[in-house]
Amino acid sequence: MIRGGCLCGGVRYEISGDLSEMCYCHCQMCRRAHGTPFSNYVALNPRDRRYTRGEELIARYQSSAEAVRTFCSRCGSKLEFQTTKTPDEIWIVSGTFDDDPGIRSTSHIYVASKAPWFEITDDLKQYPEESD
Ligand SMILES: [Zn+2]
Ligand SMILES: [Zn+2]
Repeated sequence: MIRGGCLCGGVRYEISGDLSEMCYCHCQMCRRAHGTPFSNYVALNPRDRRYTRGEELIARYQSSAEAVRTFCSRCGSKLEFQTTKTPDEIWIVSGTFDDDPGIRSTSHIYVASKAPWFEITDDLKQYPEESD
């Protein structure tokens, strides 16, 4: 069981089941949404994530025709990314985990949009846009 939540503690969640992937996203929308040079997410099946508190605080922003980003309406913490391209997957913002989820990042995606002031210094796979 992995637990996590937003900065103010209003939204809390629990994850059971397997995490399928962790990756860094360098797309400009993530950069703007998170206010950082990149985002980091973990993918899982939506039925393996359960909100234990504060579901009423969750706000949704449709950032493109396919994608919705959720965040805490009180403190602004980014929580999830979902795209209709992969309806059986949600992407949880890994910075909201309380504990080590065990999984490690395997790739950088959307490096074609990478912030020029950020240099990737690891040997993980890089994809210009989405991974395969
Ligand atoms: Zn909050
Ligand atoms: Zn992104």
